Amino acid sequence: MELLVQVAQFIFFKVCDLSAKQEFIDAAKSGKILARQCKKCNDVNLATVYFCRKCGNNQFENIFIDGTGHIETFTIITVPPTGFEKYVPYAWVIMKLNDSKLRISGFMSNVSKPNEIPIGTEVQIYGFDERGVLIKKSKLCY
Ligand SMILES: [Zn+2]
Repeated sequence: MELLVQVAQFIFFKVCDLSAKQEFIDAAKSGKILARQCKKCNDVNLATVYFCRKCGNNQFENIFIDGTGHIETFTIITVPPTGFEKYVPYAWVIMKLNDSKLRISGFMSNVSKPNEIPIGTEVQIYGFDERGVLIKKSKLCY
């Protein structure tokens, strides 16, 4: 349930919060995730939250987390939303970061079959564009 809530927050953030978004985008382009650490309890939250989900505090410090992790789940998209036809097939991936309990959702190009990206595949964030956070397989696993 927590996973679903966080993914939903991220999608909302993508659409609605344009100012905070630029900083998040810049971080993603350099392979990192911008997150917010609660000044009161030190809990790490996604950059999309306004209140700490642990203690309800609204004072945060920005932190940057290494954008490497592994795939927890994914959906392969073969029927894309309008404007995304040229990207098909692709996967919408939820990855768990290595250095944080946070999960990030993002886009993986050229995935047509589930066995191409088994659960647990090591991945890294490498960019951000109209598709959202861009994720690719880490070179380390080859
Ligand atoms: Zn807190």
